Amino acid sequence: MNIILIGPPGSGKGTQAQKILADFDLAYFSAGDILRDLAKEDSALGKQVAKTINQGKLLSDQLMAQIIRDFLSKNQGSIIFDGYPRNLNQVVFLEESLVNRKGIGLVIYLQVSEQVLTARLSSRVICRNCGAVYNLITNPPREKGICDACGGELYQRNDETPEAVKKRLAIFRQQTRPMIDFFKEKGSLFIVDGNQPIKDIYQLIRKKLIKTGLALIGA
Ligand code: AMP
Repeated sequence: MNIILIGPPGSGKGTQAQKILADFDLAYFSAGDILRDLAKEDSALGKQVAKTINQGKLLSDQLMAQIIRDFLSKNQGSIIFDGYPRNLNQVVFLEESLVNRKGIGLVIYLQVSEQVLTARLSSRVICRNCGAVYNLITNPPREKGICDACGGELYQRNDETPEAVKKRLAIFRQQTRPMIDFFKEKGSLFIVDGNQPIKDIYQLIRKKLIKTGLALIGA
């Protein structure tokens, strides 16, 4: 069963994805991680991707389609999608791409108020090595600047400046939110209150995934 995680920037998609991956046997597609890797490349495309991300804007649907095609060709099992799709065009493309791969089984929407998001994003740090996400206020690392999980260096993203955050939230409102009604009508939407503590959110998601028939690793 393929799963999509939807939520505004800062809603905790990456954090919940890591927890889901520890319990369930899924491949992980993180649009943001793949694009940030692409942005490091010393090429015209790399530079374009870096610039677009730093402005808080979306990359083209064509580029994203190419990235999805490539990922699907390398991953045969069920997948959890984090950060893709982000607009209705991308939904159509993903549905078509998964037609012979059990389609989209569940869409988890992490609903968080904009006030909470703005506060969270300005205090978010990420591990350069393993991608673990911390919040300096609500979920700080044990040692400043160092990842609890792997000892890697923690950094703040370039697109978490106030202007870029504003842009990202506006894009979510305009382009991503319409997807929510679409999935609601299809009956595949599971809405979770993402203002709760991380572990409480995860318990709700875990229960839902088990109820939907996803097997726990080792069960
Ligand atoms: P994220 O880490 O998911 O917040 O993504 C970081 C940035 O990558 C976004 O602000 C966009 O610039 C770009 N991005 C991520 N996912 C997509 C997507 N599905 N379509 C277009 N651009 C994307």
